[in-house]
Amino acid sequence: MKAAVLYETDTHLKIEEFDLPSPSANQVRVRLVASGVCHSDWHVVKGDWPQVRLPVILGHEGAGVVEEIGTDVTQVQVGDHVILSWKRNCGYCEMCQKGYPNLCALPADGSGKPSIKTSGREIDQMSGLGTFGTETLVPQDAVVPIDKDMPFAQAALIGCGVMTGVGAAINTAQVTPGSSVAVFGCGGVGLNCIQGAALSGGEPIIAVDVLDNKLELGRQFGATHTVNASKADPVEQIKEITDGRGVHYAFEAIGLIGETFRQAILCTRSRGMTVFVGHAPENTAVEFDARMLMPEKMVIGSMYGTARPHVDFPRLVSLYKGGQLKLDELVTRTYPLEGVNEAFEALARGEVARSVLDLT
Ligand SMILES: [Zn+2]
Ligand SMILES: [Zn+2]
Repeated sequence: MKAAVLYETDTHLKIEEFDLPSPSANQVRVRLVASGVCHSDWHVVKGDWPQVRLPVILGHEGAGVVEEIGTDVTQVQVGDHVILSWKRNCGYCEMCQKGYPNLCALPADGSGKPSIKTSGREIDQMSGLGTFGTETLVPQDAVVPIDKDMPFAQAALIGCGVMTGVGAAINTAQVTPGSSVAVFGCGGVGLNCIQGAALSGGEPIIAVDVLDNKLELGRQFGATHTVNASKADPVEQIKEITDGRGVHYAFEAIGLIGETFRQAILCTRSRGMTVFVGHAPENTAVEFDARMLMPEKMVIGSMYGTARPHVDFPRLVSLYKGGQLKLDELVTRTYPLEGVNEAFEALARGEVARSVLDLT
């Protein structure tokens, strides 16, 4: 198999050949067909996430076909089409039992050890998956079978960006019909917060970004209003659109600087909820006057859109097939595996909703 490996931060990924070992008892070998290029991969390249050990095969938003299964695997069969889930799901820990497998206590690869060893080297897989490759080895709870008529590129996006954004709106916040929503950031995740809010009947839905092309995308995904934060104060604009009261729900889907987190809290009304969806770099500080929370404002993080992958992935596939979930529109560009560095450059320039690697 071939895969794209990051050896050092701020360098290009290198395409290398590996021999994958046979799956262990609980593992599944997946032939990857498509992988999205997510901002989280970019965070690792930029060195924002020092907790990720290098070298690492990046990529955690993938779909493919089960090629081989370990002796204890019962949940999937060879030939199944699957979406990969980047969060382990043991089924037994406190959070799994409470219905929050997105917060499962297991580390990403289940053992804390790299699972790909080749010519004496150990290579980690991003989030235990490493989807920037033609094949991967993952634990059986990390694969969710889906209908075989679902296209792979669109399926792959469900594995991270779509689940994270749509899930933040429909699972974490549980936006109700007629409630007002502001979404900061119209990247891959933000657009999905917008379409999740639209699916839930949010109104108005206000998209905030600094790039007009991104705001236009926001409209395509269901935003009723747009605010260009480089031209006007977004908090004031949001208050104006909501008769001075602020929104019921604000989503921060940028995750780069503390200021947008602060603005998200500021633009909510009494009893309003701010959802932190963006994964900020380590030690990102958010400063605000604590009294601001007195009118019973709520601030909550969202991890993987409160995903229950085995319930939510098939649900999102159904919504897509029923014409209610926009996925085709998210796939701005397709690159071969060898084009991964170019895909990162397009992402860094804010040119794409999502790039997808075609791994066939
Ligand atoms: Zn991601
Ligand atoms: Zn668990």
